[in-house]
Formats: sequence, C-alpha cells, structure tokens
Amino acid sequence: MLDAVIVGAGFAGMYMLHRLRGLGLTARVFEAGTGVGGTWYWNRYPGARCDVESMDYSYSFSEELQQEWRWTERYSAQPEILRYANHVADRFDLRRDIQFGTRVTAAIWDERAGTWTVGTDRGDSVPARFCIMATGCLSDAQVPAFPGRDSFAGRSFHTGRWPHEPVDFTGRRVAVIGTGSSAIQSIPLIARQAAHVFVFQRTPNYSMPAHNAPLDPEYERSVKGRYAEFRRQARESRVGFVTERSGDSAMTVPDEAREREYETRWNRGGLGFSAAYTDLLTSREANDTAARFFREKIRAIVRDPAVADLLCPKDYPLGTKRLCVDTDYYATFNRDSVTLIDVRKDPIEAITPTGVRVAGVEYAVDDIVFATGFDAMTGALLDIDIRGRADRRLAVEWTGGPRTYLGLAIAGFPNLFAITGPGSPSVLSNMIVSIEQHVDWIADCMAYLRAHRLATIEATSAAQEAWVQHVNEVGHTTLYPLAPSWYMGANIPGKPRVFMPYIGGVGLYRQKCDEVAAKGYEGFALGA
Ligand code: NAP
Repeated sequence: MLDAVIVGAGFAGMYMLHRLRGLGLTARVFEAGTGVGGTWYWNRYPGARCDVESMDYSYSFSEELQQEWRWTERYSAQPEILRYANHVADRFDLRRDIQFGTRVTAAIWDERAGTWTVGTDRGDSVPARFCIMATGCLSDAQVPAFPGRDSFAGRSFHTGRWPHEPVDFTGRRVAVIGTGSSAIQSIPLIARQAAHVFVFQRTPNYSMPAHNAPLDPEYERSVKGRYAEFRRQARESRVGFVTERSGDSAMTVPDEAREREYETRWNRGGLGFSAAYTDLLTSREANDTAARFFREKIRAIVRDPAVADLLCPKDYPLGTKRLCVDTDYYATFNRDSVTLIDVRKDPIEAITPTGVRVAGVEYAVDDIVFATGFDAMTGALLDIDIRGRADRRLAVEWTGGPRTYLGLAIAGFPNLFAITGPGSPSVLSNMIVSIEQHVDWIADCMAYLRAHRLATIEATSAAQEAWVQHVNEVGHTTLYPLAPSWYMGANIPGKPRVFMPYIGGVGLYRQKCDEVAAKGYEGFALGA
C-alpha cells in the first residue's frame, strides 16, 4: 500500500514527491503530460515567460541546486523553466515514481479501509493512505462555447495546450481571441511573423513593461551570496518576493511626487507597481490615480487615438484582474498588420469554417489562437470525481463555490490535501514560495501523524466555515471583488462568484498555518 498518491508533476508534485521520499514514505505521481513541469510543460506559446523574476521563481529547498543553477534572463522564458524542471527531476531522480501520460479521473475514500482509491484514464486503481492534489490553479484550459467553435477549417491552438513543435505563423492571417497575460505575451511575437493579426478584445488589461534583460551577473552573485536571507524575506513577505513597499497612502502625497513614483516603477517594470502605495488595492480613489497613469502611458505609446482608447481599461480597478507584464504589447498595435476588434459591445457571433464573425462582419483567418484562459483554482479539482466520507462528492460540496480549511484541506475528505488550493494565497503570490510552504506543511503533518500513530486527519466543519468566512471578509476589504476576474470565477459562465484566493499575505498565512500545526493541528480531527 502506497503512503500517498500525488496528482500532477508540476513544481508542486515534484517537490511533494521529494519530501515524502525524504521521510521514507512511498508515493506515486500521476501526470497527464508526457513530462514534468506542469504550467511550463503545457504553456509553450510564443513569448511565454514568467512574470516573477528568475532569482525568486525557483526552488529554495536545496542549497546546491539554487547555487549551481544559472538563469540567463531577469524573467525566465518557458523553455528555460522547463529545462530547470527537467533538471530537478533528473537531479533528484524523481521520474522513477512518476507515471506519465496518465490522467487521474477519480479519487474515492474507502471508509472501511481508511484509504483513497485513485482511478486513472489508463485503468489504474491504486489504493493509498493519502491523496495529494498538485493539480495547479491554472491548468484546466477553456475555450468558450462560441457558436460554430468546432467548424473552423484552419489551424487552432489554445495557449495553455500549445503544440510541442514550434508553430510558424509566417505569412498567415491569425485571430487571437482574448487579451489576458497569455495573449499579451504572445501577440507581439505572433505579429512579427504573421501577415495580419486580428485581436478580439472583450476587456482591456493593465500591462506593465517587463524590461526584460540578460540576468545581471552582479545581481546574481549578490543574491547567491545571501540566498538564505533572500528566501527568508520572500517567505515573510506579502506576495512571496520582496518588492519595495511604500508605507504611504497614494492620497497623502503631492501629485507630482506620486507621478514620479509611478514613473520610477514603470521604468523598473514588473509586478512591483501595485506596492507603490498602501491603498492602491483598497481605495478606489487611490487606485484611480494609478489607473489614470496607465491610461496616459497607453495613449502615449499607441498612435491611433481610437485604438489607444479601446486598449485603455476603464471599468475596473488596476490590479484587480491579474496585472500583466509584457514586452512591446501596446506598441504592437502601431503595426499596420494588427487590428483590434472590440467584442465587448458586439460579442463574437460565431466561429465559421474560415474565420471569426463579429457584428455581421467575418474576419477571414488561417489560424485561431484561443488565449481564453482557464477554469481557475477549482477546475482541475472538479474535473476529478472526488468523493469523501459517505460518498460526498466534492462537486456537490462546492456548488456554491470552494470551501476549504486553509486552502489545504476539506471537511468530509480525510487525508486529502490540495497544494495551493482555493482559500490559500496561491495565485496572488510567487507560486513556488507558496508551493514549498504547502508541501513542507503537508510533509510535516504526515510525519506528525506517523510519530503519533494517527491514521487520519480531517478538517472540522467549524474550522472550515470560520476560514471560509475569514477569506471572504479579507477579500472584501479590497477592491478585488469589483472586477469580473477569474479570481472571482467570472470568466466561466455559471461559476459561483466567490473571491477564491486568500489575500491576507504569504507571510501572515504561513504564520497561521504554523500555529495550527504547533497547536497539534487545531481545527482538524485526528483519528487513530
Ligand atoms: P485570462 O487572463 O483568463 O484571459 C483570457 C482572455 O480571454 C480574457 O481577455 C478574456 O476576456 C478572454 N475571453 C474569455 N472568454 C471570452 C469570450 N467568450 N469572448 C471573448 N473573449 C473572451 O487567461 P490567460 O491570459 O491565459 O492568463 C491566466 C492567468 O495565467 C494570468 O492571469 C496569470 O495569472 C497566469 N499567466 C501568467 C503569465 C506570466 O507569468 N507571465 C503568463 C500567462 C498567464 P475577459 O477579460 O473579458 O474575460
């Protein structure tokens, strides 16, 4: 009997396996892809790149690994991150316990045996004491049900399911549907090759320049010289990496000083912009000052005023949909070969065999790129038939939105853990920091159970309800719920509108999780 089944061999699943092995526990990982890397295995679209800096976005669990691995750029591109994932898999000999090309379809709790039975699309039926979901928050790719969606006769791609061979767009007419992070990264590169790109935009996004560059060797040396401290600060920070945080309100500083601060941050690039003032994500008035700054930037870059206007976000606060980080996104709309089409006013009517139809006009294309996102945070979990005590189905338990204790565990589902699940900081943080924290917590918990000869651990309903309420309350002290974002489930028709991640901050959240463990797993029922 295995101690654990781990679902997914992305960064979470790989590290989970490594930790369990270190405890002398047995585990098998099931992975739908043919290789490791999760997000970085699937998202191979042109321009795919991390929006967290390379020195931050990497494992910290091995001093040798973090010292020896060399990143080449400030923000790593997908092929390099995938090489890193493969290096980790080889270095720690992970592959022998990973079954690739196998999708988990069911996880059923056997009340009498006190075990999970995990079923796969390959016919496996594997019992294990624990089931650990390392299924990722943005892994369930979605193509909206456009009328005629499957009638298109040309090539079509989803950014999150990109082919493993390079796709050549030279001389082709390409439709890109969506303007989220994936579109914003890929459009400039597709436009360099294509004869024409038609961008179908429903909601414009706020995007920061990346100012990507080769990694400064001096910076690399300095970080590596103090990596332990650098990582400690990241773990205790709000978002899992250290960024210069001001203690001021945007409304208490003079206008010129505020503009200067925004300009400095724009020139620095990246996600640190929202940390410019304490109230950018809590006060609409403060947020408006930053949003105005962005709109002016867009208008200064994009020559055609009508196109610039269409690219300006106006009806939701900056940062409440995930801020994007780009290279040449707005400038790409200065190309004669790029056309922006507003599908807010007139939604896409149909995909036809030869193109995309909007407001009675057909845009004839050779290729369609669906950059239409994911059923975030819950999609990958609910795609699996998960049944806990008394045959309770997770899909039913979560009808009104996800309910977890600490984003890690679910009442009624003993010995089941979710890594970076809904109700934890996950998508609002540097994912690797959050992954390592969850994996370490779960591994420590399993070691505790073994040491105390305990067979099961299960969140109590009371602790779960209190946590759900806390997550909700903290979320609603911010501006986040004002945007129809995937954080809110708003991108999936019919999905409950609940702010899913925990916004209390990575450092504070870690403290709470550690306190729970220190108090003998407060809020959990432990069974012999
Ligand atoms: P996304 O942010 O959900 O964007 C999907 C896009 O498709 C949106 O513009 C959306 O419009 C549009 N769309 C969806 N349904 C549509 C419809 N029926 N008609 C027209 N347009 C439609 O997905 P994503 O770009 O793949 O990014 C998802 C997340 O992954 C990001 O927020 C980020 O956290 C992560 N990511 C990170 C990076 C990075 O590290 N640099 C890169 C890529 C992705 P609406 O906005 O109107 O819904």
